[in-house]
Amino acid sequence: MNQQYPSKLVEQAVEEISKLPGIGKKSALRLALHLLKRPEVQSVQLASALVKLRTETKFCKQCHMISDDELCGICASNKRDESVLCVVEDVNDVLAIENTGQFNGLYHVLGGIISPMSGISPADLRIETLVERVRNGNIEEVILGLSPTMEGDTTAFYLTKKLKEFSVKISTIARGIPIGGDLEYTDEITLGRSIVSRVTYE
Ligand code: ZN
Repeated sequence: MNQQYPSKLVEQAVEEISKLPGIGKKSALRLALHLLKRPEVQSVQLASALVKLRTETKFCKQCHMISDDELCGICASNKRDESVLCVVEDVNDVLAIENTGQFNGLYHVLGGIISPMSGISPADLRIETLVERVRNGNIEEVILGLSPTMEGDTTAFYLTKKLKEFSVKISTIARGIPIGGDLEYTDEITLGRSIVSRVTYE
């Protein structure tokens, strides 16, 4: 049965809200009606925060993490080990690994994962800047912190080939993470253990 809406404006709001991941039309309608019940200022602040998020968010020029400045807090810190680089798919993964408190190196956010099914090719990812960092930096080890899925494996294989010409150790955090599992949904203890007991990639 088609969802009925009390007005075109409510329908429009539901249309937009339900484009968010994990939010169906029913939840979107509940959120829209909730906003209508709350003081107007709440909706205005929400809208303005979202617009600012989209238009003013900066990304670290070195690791592509979300940042307030040119360099993110992690890259700018002098307490991090610059010889170890952990390559991850997304910003979420950096946050998940940071939450474990088990990693003190730097990151490189690819901005996605190679996926022929979804039409994502290496050219769509920040792979060139990764190669540049390895070429120019004092990096001794690159940890491939990618999900143990088919796409993760494809990406790991591609990156390994790309980095082969440099004398850098390549390891992966396979252990402890369920095959087919998603990095960001792995519990902190498992993820923390996985990065400590990483294995050489072959
Ligand atoms: Zn950074």
